[in-house]
Amino acid sequence: MERDPTIKCAFCNGEGLDPFGIMSKLSACYVCRGRGKVDVGEPYITCAFCKGSGIHPNTRMNCLVCKGKGVVSIKGPTEKCVTCNGAGVEPQGYLPCLICQGKGVVPKK
Ligand SMILES: [Zn+2]
Ligand SMILES: [Zn+2]
Ligand SMILES: [Zn+2]
Repeated sequence: MERDPTIKCAFCNGEGLDPFGIMSKLSACYVCRGRGKVDVGEPYITCAFCKGSGIHPNTRMNCLVCKGKGVVSIKGPTEKCVTCNGAGVEPQGYLPCLICQGKGVVPKK
């Protein structure tokens, strides 16, 4: 069995430290547990909801959609979610799109 690829942790930008230092400036990033890297199943795409930053927009928390990784795994062929026009955000602009769960894409029919 092949191992999942490892990518740079988006939330801490690969530094392994909590980017906001909520507990302490030296606390480990809770997304990658201080490794600076995260495992992600292939194929994956940039998270539409946080635009790959790993940060939940307008908060200091990790993105709900990608868990802070900045990418999301997808299964099979996909097409752009027409409900959010690929942005991954509800029309009101705060929560992940319910149809695509914030990914910006939906399985192709
Ligand atoms: Zn990290
Ligand atoms: Zn995200
Ligand atoms: Zn959508």
